[in-house]
Amino acid sequence: TKKKLFSISKALREINEIIGKQIFYSNIEMTFNYKNENEELLIYGYENEFKQVLLNLLNNAKNKIVEKNTDFGKKAHININIERSSNYNIIEIIDDGGAIDEKIIHSIFDPYFTTKESGTGFGLYMAKVIIEDKMRGIIKVRNDNNNVVFTIKLPHKKVQN
Ligand code: ADP
Ligand code: MG
Repeated sequence: TKKKLFSISKALREINEIIGKQIFYSNIEMTFNYKNENEELLIYGYENEFKQVLLNLLNNAKNKIVEKNTDFGKKAHININIERSSNYNIIEIIDDGGAIDEKIIHSIFDPYFTTKESGTGFGLYMAKVIIEDKMRGIIKVRNDNNNVVFTIKLPHKKVQN
């Protein structure tokens, strides 16, 4: 397939159709916050791969929340912020399900790295390959208190391969 311009909001709506119900029934409130409300933001790249990456990040967040949550009445949150900078569109995926141990946070994009009994350790590795190698963007992770923040930056116009 070839790279093309696609709408972020449309891709996110389709992602929500796939995983929104599972997230809702896991007692997680997911919100989409568009900072540039009146602007249709476009990404130049591969739409299906982009959706795959986001589904992976949302699944990781959801599974951690479900696994860690011992207080079943308590609602968790996943916030997705979408905004534009001069060279990139920026998508932040933030979950409040608990920070990543600082001892391992630098390894989580490595192939085969997993802390799960039956994990593959492939999701974030693939995310990095897709976002950075294939789509010329950037993907990063950081802890912000008890929140985990994944930041994805993707070009909004044609870039050299
Ligand atoms: P897998 O899901 O098979 O373990 P991934 O590559 O998707 O593989 O993730 C690698 C590891 O990164 C996970 O095992 C987990 O330890 C950590 N991780 C990923 N996303 C999160 C998150 N939202 N919160 C905390 N830890 C995470
Ligand atoms: Mg995973």
